[in-house]
Amino acid sequence: VINFNAGPAGLPLPALEQARDELLDFHGTGMSVMEHSHRGKDYEGVHDEAVALLTELLGIPDTHQVLFLTGGASQQFAQVPMNFLTPGASADYLMTGVWSEKALDEAKFYGSPRIAATTLQADKRYQRVPKQSELQLDPQAAYVHLTSNNTIFGSQWHTFPDVGRVPLVADMSSDFLWKPTDVSRFALIYAGAQKNLGPSGVTLILAAKDFIAKGRKDIPRYFRYSTHAENNSLYNTPPTLAIYLVRNVLQWVKGLGGLPALEQRNREKADTLYGAIDRNPGFYRAPVERESRSVMNVVFHLPTEELDAAFVAQAKAAGMVGLKGHRTAGGIRVSQYNAVSPQDVKTLTSFMDHFVKMHG
Ligand code: PLP
Repeated sequence: VINFNAGPAGLPLPALEQARDELLDFHGTGMSVMEHSHRGKDYEGVHDEAVALLTELLGIPDTHQVLFLTGGASQQFAQVPMNFLTPGASADYLMTGVWSEKALDEAKFYGSPRIAATTLQADKRYQRVPKQSELQLDPQAAYVHLTSNNTIFGSQWHTFPDVGRVPLVADMSSDFLWKPTDVSRFALIYAGAQKNLGPSGVTLILAAKDFIAKGRKDIPRYFRYSTHAENNSLYNTPPTLAIYLVRNVLQWVKGLGGLPALEQRNREKADTLYGAIDRNPGFYRAPVERESRSVMNVVFHLPTEELDAAFVAQAKAAGMVGLKGHRTAGGIRVSQYNAVSPQDVKTLTSFMDHFVKMHG
């Protein structure tokens, strides 16, 4: 099938085939990679290669460190304020969707987060990201938090805001590694792996070493970023199989030509898909404002909810799954993460054109 699920999402076939071939006997050791000690050299080679590949692909500077944690992005909603907020201290949150709301709610346990910008509408939806001129930033804030891609509503920051000297923290769960990114602009990036990067179970953190060092020391060790940074993410048993799969995905990205090639491929997919929506304006309607349209999650509506449902059912019968919109946003959502190919999207847009002919 062609998998358009929002996450967990499809993985590149070569990454899965490699895992299948090595599942029972990893490098002639007579056992699976997940049965190896996380302190042994066989697993450590995989772990270090995953870090090295990410560093190479993103050009991660020496000032920053890669961590593999668990608990998903949801744990990061809490772990960020736990490390960097104290009672009474504030952090600025830029509100662009459901996941920003969840991040803000967790910060309230530790300090006094402020909403520095919001694009929430009266109908409880978000259809764009804020403009720089709309941000009301506090120069004393402990950090500014944003969600780089809004998985549910289908909007994305295409230019990251200037937040001055305040550390910038980004939830990149649904658009991490889709194009070259200047990591040095961020104090901390976090992303659940299960969209662009691998299976669920591992959460990727990229953080500035000096920011990690500022984290509170009066919280349990496990929740301090510094604990994991000092131990190369091997303080306790990491999700070894998930990290192995991330390594395989990163090898695939490198083989494709790295992030410039991936960006070209992702933009081509987005152009194809938004093109199909825009050439049928009376039938398909994309609610997100053009400048904020997401390259990763494309949300649109058909004229009625009955037609939305028929679209999802007929697409499924044609081998395309995961197209139903999130219950908060309704309609159709096409998640076209890195593993989705340009040809997969063309198959979908041919189906869309045909669907208009049948029902338009
Ligand atoms: N943030 C964003 C942008 C997401 O899309 C998601 C899940 O889809 C999450 C956070 C929550 O991630 P997790 O399930 O890894 O906690």
